[in-house]
Amino acid sequence: MDELQWQSLAVRSGITRSPEGEHSEALFLTSSYVFDSAEHAAARFAGDDPGNVYSRYTNPTVRSFEERLAALEGAEACVATASGMAAILSTCMALLKAGDHVICSRDVFGTTRTLFAKYLANFGVEVSFVPLLPLEGWRDALRDNTRLLYLETPSNPLCEVADIQSMAAIAQASDALLVVDNCFCSPALQRPLSFGADIVIHSATKYLDGQGRCVGGAVLGRQELMDEVLGFLRSCGPTMSAFNAWVFLKGLETLSLRMQAHSASALLLARWLQEQPNVESVFYAGLESHPGHVLAAKQQSAFGGVLSFRVRGEKAAAWKVIDATRLMSLTANLGDAKTTIVHPATTTHSRISPQERHEAGITDNLIRIAVGLEDIEDLKADLQRGLESLG
Ligand SMILES: *Cc1c(COP(=O)(O)O)cnc(C)c1O
Repeated sequence: MDELQWQSLAVRSGITRSPEGEHSEALFLTSSYVFDSAEHAAARFAGDDPGNVYSRYTNPTVRSFEERLAALEGAEACVATASGMAAILSTCMALLKAGDHVICSRDVFGTTRTLFAKYLANFGVEVSFVPLLPLEGWRDALRDNTRLLYLETPSNPLCEVADIQSMAAIAQASDALLVVDNCFCSPALQRPLSFGADIVIHSATKYLDGQGRCVGGAVLGRQELMDEVLGFLRSCGPTMSAFNAWVFLKGLETLSLRMQAHSASALLLARWLQEQPNVESVFYAGLESHPGHVLAAKQQSAFGGVLSFRVRGEKAAAWKVIDATRLMSLTANLGDAKTTIVHPATTTHSRISPQERHEAGITDNLIRIAVGLEDIEDLKADLQRGLESLG
């Protein structure tokens, strides 16, 4: 298996065929497992026999998903979780303790900020938030007790790009772990472990599913780290459901094809938006004008499906463009075959203060689009209606 190319691994890895000889991956909907004898049960519980005991611990379908995703990220091990947030929580609970310090990018998913700022702080973990760029800000925030650096690249919604290799060097020099949420790129476009990151986080809910059906997550990295994360999961319970694992497992087969299509359409749409008179600026790392373009081109095999742009005018203009769409879905989700459009300042980023929003560049005239798999001409027409109405 190890010798196969990436796309072959996406289709072929992680398969254990049952005695029925099924061709497609089996879905094991079972909460528990039966033993041959009392002695066999005892051996399973003692860990002398490595088989299944209970689906909070292990499930064959979940394991298939974990093995396939690990192959695609180039990770030694993977632990599947109930959601992306459960992946982040499990990582923190397994690897941090009271008195530790975390540095988190300011430009991460809103709920991730809440998890660090509210819940971890309640348990005595200190957290500093720094802008994703420049990297010097991270160096300045380091303390003796810094154990974890946490970031997303490219960032949401302005597509800023952090140099994972340089960040890994900063983490290593201070005995901290670098954790990268790879949700926006997926392993089809970017493999953070290959640049020295210690841990990769996924919200499988997004591109790994790709069709907006299930909620799930994953943590990937070295075996010894994942053993700790798995230990937390077994005792505390945020495990992935077998059904969801099956959906994600099948999603991985088409992940690269979808990511290439999302990326190609996003680039066309970004270029088209740049030419529209009522568009002030476009944020997409695929554009040569984007400050992160050269780094993204080195670190990623394509630029992904998410872009944002500022319209001429204020909030009213942005809302007008959003409300004029008929095809795009007005929802904060992303990573779906269906294109989604959202106004970050009043939705995904509404809970942070106006001052912080201003510093992060989330202006009232900013619109984010997660480009889906519809025909690009229909997407342009859907935006053109609103943009032309701005006069
Ligand atoms: C959605 C998302 C999460 C959280 O994942 P859930 O599956 O919704 O819990 C974390 N990080 C990023 C970048 C996300 O987009």
